Amino acid sequence: MSATPGPSGGPSLPQERRLVTEIPGPVSRELMERKLATVAAGVGSVLPVFARRAGGGIAEDVDGNALIDFGSGIAVTGVGNSADAGVRRAAEQLGRFTHTCAMVTPYEGYVEVCEELARLTPGDHAKKSVLVNSGAEAVENAVKIARYHTGRQAVVVFEHGYHGRTNLTMALTAKNMPYKHGFGPFAPEIHRVPVAYPFRWLTGPGNCAEEAAALVADRITKEIGVANTAAIVIEPVLGEGGFIVPARGFLPRLAAFAKEHGIVLVADEIQTGFCRTGHWFACEDEGIVPDLITTAKGIAGGLPLAAVTGRAEIMDAVHAGGLGGTYGGNPVACAAALGAIETMRDLDLPARARRIEEIAKPRLLAMAARHPVIGEVRGRGAMLAAELVRPGTKEPDPATTAAVAAACHREGLIGLTAGTYGNVLRFLPPLVIGEDLLTEGLDILEDALTGL
Ligand code: PMP
Repeated sequence: MSATPGPSGGPSLPQERRLVTEIPGPVSRELMERKLATVAAGVGSVLPVFARRAGGGIAEDVDGNALIDFGSGIAVTGVGNSADAGVRRAAEQLGRFTHTCAMVTPYEGYVEVCEELARLTPGDHAKKSVLVNSGAEAVENAVKIARYHTGRQAVVVFEHGYHGRTNLTMALTAKNMPYKHGFGPFAPEIHRVPVAYPFRWLTGPGNCAEEAAALVADRITKEIGVANTAAIVIEPVLGEGGFIVPARGFLPRLAAFAKEHGIVLVADEIQTGFCRTGHWFACEDEGIVPDLITTAKGIAGGLPLAAVTGRAEIMDAVHAGGLGGTYGGNPVACAAALGAIETMRDLDLPARARRIEEIAKPRLLAMAARHPVIGEVRGRGAMLAAELVRPGTKEPDPATTAAVAAACHREGLIGLTAGTYGNVLRFLPPLVIGEDLLTEGLDILEDALTGL
């Protein structure tokens, strides 16, 4: 066990799992009672455990338990919690000013983040960005910009896609429960098409990319009309839908189709971006250069910040004042983002994500060989998943998935689930997690599977 959080810095939290009470402990239970009394019931929590400190690969709760973090606050703290450079820069900024509103008197940090986004995102064309507060807001803005630029209205999204919880992004999101149920009516002109999901492709994975791309092209051509289609919005690895990696060749075909017909290709890299999949952005894996890219989550090490970045001529189509918001690109969040990006560069976090895959994927595959409840292991970098099914079938098994996750939680491993069918265990460790903690977390997972 290493005694320090590792090279990410962060609070000097011993990097070891420690259980001193049952999970949840008494202080968490007491806080949970207060939460239930005052926080809206719609705000759920994966673990009934309240956080006190977090850093590296550890989250410590209010009872003094130290849990291994395989969630990163849903793919946010790739650089670790309270990582040094982000804390330093954000603290300095807090002391200078907290807010002026970028639309009133702008500040350098906003510009610097946009410069970094132009440098880091795929493609060497001229790029511009707008900064906002959340992933959903970024996706909303990408759709606004694509519609304005093209003068078209239709937006094409995918089965199993997730884009947020605002009205427009609920419409873009595939899964009803819990995201959309009872919240309609939804925004119009949204068209959902199949995605190349190899594990569940009816004719098998062999021709999945070609067949899915042909179906999408057909639907857009025949039913929506290319001349009506403003944007195709896709996650290069579908996150909440179950870490679905589209069959190789699907994304390039989609990109070529969009280009041919003047449709704006929007890559939603809110979950996949900022080193998570072993590249700075997941699009790089197949050399996709999207017209617009949405980012959030990992961008600022935990402070709320999101962006739309894209071709300058598309981004600049919108009239002055057409984009923005009071808090968009808050100066403290921008400072944190610059610190997080500095950490990603200094520690070569894309390489760290690849190393996590190198360690974790063979372990997960070995578990799949021993436990037929695992139907498929998939993902890239530090965005890995196991899809659970009834053994010998492809029938989703959400109950076992929930049971495995709960067993992990009891043993002090923060693990998340996902998937349209709720049957995917997903692993999103901080990219700075120590290899010993990573291995220990995988041991806990394996014990949970063995104990079923
Ligand atoms: N798009 C994707 C791909 C996401 O994973 C998420 C969040 N899970 C969102 C959009 C929405 O982001 P936010 O929760 O910050 O609004």
